[in-house]
Amino acid sequence: MAKITEYESIVGPHTIEELKLLAGKLQGKLIQNINSTAVGGGVAEILNRMVPLLQELGVDTRWDFIKGGEDFFNVTKKFHNALHGKSEEITPQMFEIFMETSQRNIDEVKTIGNVVFIHDPQPITLVKKKTSIPDSKWIWRCHIDVSAPDKQVWNFLAPFIHQYDAAVFSSPNFSQLLPIRQFLITPSIDPLSDKNKDLPQETIDKVLEKYHIPADTPIITQISRFDYLKDPIGVIEAYRLVKKRIDCQLIIAGGTATDDPESTKVFAETKEVAGNDADIHILPIPSGSDIEINALQRASDVIIQKSLREGFGLTVTEALWKAKPVVASGTGGIPLQVKHKYSGLLCHSVAGAAFAIKQLLNSPEYAKRLGKNGHEHIKQNFLLTRHLKDYMLLFLCMYHPEDIVYL
Ligand code: UDP
Repeated sequence: MAKITEYESIVGPHTIEELKLLAGKLQGKLIQNINSTAVGGGVAEILNRMVPLLQELGVDTRWDFIKGGEDFFNVTKKFHNALHGKSEEITPQMFEIFMETSQRNIDEVKTIGNVVFIHDPQPITLVKKKTSIPDSKWIWRCHIDVSAPDKQVWNFLAPFIHQYDAAVFSSPNFSQLLPIRQFLITPSIDPLSDKNKDLPQETIDKVLEKYHIPADTPIITQISRFDYLKDPIGVIEAYRLVKKRIDCQLIIAGGTATDDPESTKVFAETKEVAGNDADIHILPIPSGSDIEINALQRASDVIIQKSLREGFGLTVTEALWKAKPVVASGTGGIPLQVKHKYSGLLCHSVAGAAFAIKQLLNSPEYAKRLGKNGHEHIKQNFLLTRHLKDYMLLFLCMYHPEDIVYL
């Protein structure tokens, strides 16, 4: 794992000095992160790097988890979808299941942070323990696109959200009318992690070989958890439209998250729709296969992210960092990253995605220029060092309630 000083070569020494300075101001404060899974998905991806780097900077930081059974995570997945605006049937029994497991977590999870940083809705009710730690500051970090949430679920969560000292969202259009302070902080990637570091061509070739993917035909790739909102079927439909005109291959690679019980079903459906097309590679990737994902992204001619809804879309960030031409839905936080026709192409339908992919495959120079702009955009805005700074400022801000920050 890279040390903080190693980032100097990318972001310069002043940025690192600034981080050390801010870390010094957090001495004596324990920052406690709590979420529901250590692996799978963007939240775990970020915390896996954020926590050790804060610790290395000297900020006392820990990361704890809530526990839940299949019934609880079935419910929280429905809440997740509904908050993203997907139509879901939400029953009173689901709220009961949610509260039952939540109560168990309230009883069992040790909350000891001076700043308790709760990620997403699964552990949201822990805020009931706020008064058990004198002068503690509680922040709810929402990674979901809640620009048009299902009212029933939002209204159920709202009384908990209101008990926090602050809420953090990833995009300005996710902000809500709340009686607490709100902050806009975009996520980030770690340029030196196995997922994003430069790779020798030999490693990339080996991964292609392992999955029997020939390198002589253009490759279109989507990396994502198998989730309806990532629209893997739509990706196959777009590929089929492209394939009518240009010979190409499709990779859909991804794994599951322990807090996402839907993925097995989505994986099976994706396989079925892919049928026996030898140019479609549906790859189940075990968690922790970061070098493999890195290699698949680097081996691709076009990266697609055809999400129907998206929090931020770290897979887009990862692809742009690798200077790849990206076609992505204009949803959630993606337009913050893909500036249409500058750092990639935005799409809003299967036909639109296919059109954009064809355009990129037919114009390699244009594709290269978009990728290059994308890399620079990520370097300026979405690297871990910027994120560390924002989080430390956020924690410090909690001790200065008079400095009201409006989105
Ligand atoms: N990811 C992974 N293995 C997989 C699928 C995804 O490591 O099989 C990673 C991906 O590289 C990215 C994160 O999980 O870093 C997904 O974050 P994103 O914001 O794109 O979507 P989320 O899963 O949080 O909805």
